[in-house]
Amino acid sequence: MKKIKDTALALRVVNYSETSQVVTLLTREHGKMGAIAKGSRRPKSAFEGAIEPFACGQVMFIASEASDKLATLTEFVRAPRFRLLHTQLMAMYAGLFVLELTEAFCREYDPHPALFDALLAGLERLEQSDRPGGVCSALIDYQLTLLLEVGIAPVMDACVNCGAAIKMPLKEMYFSSIANGLLCPGCEQSFAEKRRLSAACAALLNHSVAMDDAPQQVLLEAEGVLIYHFTELLGRPPKMAKYFREQKR
Ligand SMILES: [Zn+2]
Repeated sequence: MKKIKDTALALRVVNYSETSQVVTLLTREHGKMGAIAKGSRRPKSAFEGAIEPFACGQVMFIASEASDKLATLTEFVRAPRFRLLHTQLMAMYAGLFVLELTEAFCREYDPHPALFDALLAGLERLEQSDRPGGVCSALIDYQLTLLLEVGIAPVMDACVNCGAAIKMPLKEMYFSSIANGLLCPGCEQSFAEKRRLSAACAALLNHSVAMDDAPQQVLLEAEGVLIYHFTELLGRPPKMAKYFREQKR
């Protein structure tokens, strides 16, 4: 059986036995995969101790014959990255949110090198965010990249239903998950599933304004729209969403 080498990030880890773990990895060249790390919980193993989410580095694995079976991880040489994510609470929650969504939206053995690179860059940005707005904008940026990379980027620059340009300044507009984008005032009434959003929020989600300069309130509103959208897409709220919901005023 051939050993395969790749770069990987641990998305999720479940203890499998006294000594082993089942790890969901995102690898750069081979996509997402489930793998068993035998003996990884022993103090001395090929894995330098138990594997945790955000663990990142060079892996060696033996792929399973069927994509729904676990690969066998034989080596995981970890780079000293993302350690700060364990010490800053909001950055860690945002990081875990990012991992959760990546796992949910990537298919097994479907490689997305650009998404892998965006994931590492996004986690790095989270780690370096020293203010709440920085965490939120890094989270939004990555979530939009994820949707783009898996081929379901929402239409935010025109009405997704009729194609009409959204003429600013509209005070408010609507976003529909089923339609996957903005709805103009003429089309909005034909859609039961929709969420209202401000023009400033729509502009942010369309990358028309710089994320870093956006007021905190608009960032939270944009994250609220994305949580709404991910909830519709998954058929349930993402687990980590509860830390990023808008406070009701
Ligand atoms: Zn329309």
